[in-house]
Amino acid sequence: MKVLKFGGTSVGSAERMKALLTLIVNDEPKIVVLSAMSGTTNCLVEIASLLRQKKQGEAATAIASLEEKYAGVVAALYATPAYATEAAASLKAHFDLLRSFSAEHFSCREERVILAQGELMSTLLQNLYLNEQGVQSVLLPALSFMRKDQHDEPDMYFIREMLKRELAQRPDCKLFITQGYICRSFAGEVDNLKRGGSDYSASIIGAAIGAEEVQIWTDIDGFHNNDPRVVEKTHSISHLSFDEASELAYFGAKILHPTCVIPVQEAKIPLWIKNTMEPTAFGTLISTETKLAAIKAVAAKDNITAVKIKSGRMLLAYGFIRQIFEVFEDYKTPIDMITTSEVAVSLTIDDTSNLDKIVSKLKPFGVVEVDSDMTIICVVGNKISESNGVAAKILSALSSIPIRMISFGGSRYNVSLLVDSAYKKAAMEALNEKLF
Ligand code: ASP
Ligand code: MG
Repeated sequence: MKVLKFGGTSVGSAERMKALLTLIVNDEPKIVVLSAMSGTTNCLVEIASLLRQKKQGEAATAIASLEEKYAGVVAALYATPAYATEAAASLKAHFDLLRSFSAEHFSCREERVILAQGELMSTLLQNLYLNEQGVQSVLLPALSFMRKDQHDEPDMYFIREMLKRELAQRPDCKLFITQGYICRSFAGEVDNLKRGGSDYSASIIGAAIGAEEVQIWTDIDGFHNNDPRVVEKTHSISHLSFDEASELAYFGAKILHPTCVIPVQEAKIPLWIKNTMEPTAFGTLISTETKLAAIKAVAAKDNITAVKIKSGRMLLAYGFIRQIFEVFEDYKTPIDMITTSEVAVSLTIDDTSNLDKIVSKLKPFGVVEVDSDMTIICVVGNKISESNGVAAKILSALSSIPIRMISFGGSRYNVSLLVDSAYKKAAMEALNEKLF
């Protein structure tokens, strides 16, 4: 069995939903994981935020305009009045639910229910369309099998058992449609796998059923060697290892949700990135295989804040870094890059929600400096930190750019450099020219 995931743009309109038919209808048994139609989750986030601000009227307006958009999709998608009527009636239930939330008693629990509606609606529309076209597809409700454990991690045992049960009930079905992104919390409430989490859903499902492969269908022909939004002349990379793909996904290549790699990597299931607009293009195949030592790609992550703690007390002291890290741990703030000297530590974070508190807790340790609007530029490849001349090549490409931090040797697959975001484009262009 294969798992195919289609993102928001791949189901973003009636035409796109129709075009999916040629990609998913064949003899291969598969589970198709869908995102919400593009723009929907953002709109639901907005509705929730209006309700939170007690702007019930504005929320109602936003709900009405989303409902109108979906009415347009129904009108364009179905050929027969019977299916159009059924789709409209099912959608109405979702919009009635959205309208039922009161700004007076609004909590995170209601917000999560609101955020779940996008995937519920896209799958219902797509499945009905397939049925109208005579395809025997079955809707597999993600909320019946996708669950998190008490540590907020996918409960793989539960997911595996529930999926086994669900699939066994339909031994003759070859095409299952399910929702990405949504799940249940440990307590059984409606929850989600964070923004962009549909990729993660597909990977979890693939690992749980021991799929032959997982395919992520998106709107670009795989991972590129550099960011096509920033640099001209990039090309897609045909093969990556799981480790290389994780680094690239984390450091800014928006193609894949960073956690998506983990379940398939553990289960050693090949992961494909494919382009819906160009289905015959090879895309990127991510697997346990690594091609020879080589620089594969450059990616960048913006909105990075660098924090430097300088202290004479650090000289020859032990336990100093642990104490500093504990401050970040206390505020559940992940650290990305670290560099140290004998008297200072520099590190980067991208979640600044507790920055003020962190800085005041760090002050007793020494002088604290904060630089915002920084970018991590990450060069990814196989064993690049062990290959001769790679560092020299990277640094000479960047000879005219001020570098704030360098992390080399922490991973065999990546060299990271921190620059002021104003230099991002120049740095990526210079690397593109000198490395590929
Ligand atoms: N619909 C969700 C989002 O926009 C999940 C996803 O598309 O992966 O974040
Ligand atoms: Mg996505």
